[in-house]
Amino acid sequence: MAKLNALAKAGVVNVEGFYTVGGRTAIDFANSSRRFGKDGEGLERLEELLTFLKSMGHLHEEEASTYHMYQFQNPDRCAAVMADLRSIRSRFIAVLGQMSSGWPMDPTFVGELNEKLEGFRTYLSLTPAEGGMELSTRLADDGPEQLMYPIIKDIAEFLASEDGSRVRQCASDHCELFFINNSRNGRRRWCSMSTCGNRAKVNAYLKRQEG
Ligand SMILES: [Zn+2]
Repeated sequence: MAKLNALAKAGVVNVEGFYTVGGRTAIDFANSSRRFGKDGEGLERLEELLTFLKSMGHLHEEEASTYHMYQFQNPDRCAAVMADLRSIRSRFIAVLGQMSSGWPMDPTFVGELNEKLEGFRTYLSLTPAEGGMELSTRLADDGPEQLMYPIIKDIAEFLASEDGSRVRQCASDHCELFFINNSRNGRRRWCSMSTCGNRAKVNAYLKRQEG
């Protein structure tokens, strides 16, 4: 727990243990196969997706409890959503691998993404908020499939943005995390200086001592 707090303070993970070094939902989602403090898959069950979305600010507590009902009403449908999401993630990770090493991305992924985007029906809605009004995008349909919307949307926005040319994979051999290289000199190599960057510095120091 102490380690989780330290990592959360350093911006490596959030309080739920999901990696936040990606700097935006799409990349944090790509990094979600691991979750700090948990063995195995980070997004196994619908419940974990709800926690992921809540911790990333995409879902309110009340909304989450409504979606939580599906896990009891229709577990098979929820399992299918999670499997679908993990398959999109592995396709997206492959695309990020191409982009971060300077290769053109697999164009079939765009087609798959467009097909997903076509499935969401949204509308705008005004609601009273603190100090005025808030305009937000609402989903017209119900069902656990709708939980994919903020993720699919941010993957699409990421691909359409300049971040696409700035995505990098951590230079550590033991780390597969992706991040957006927004450093001023463009030379950032590590997912985080508090973890992999620091480890590399220490290793380089020890090597110098040996030699
Ligand atoms: Zn790393």
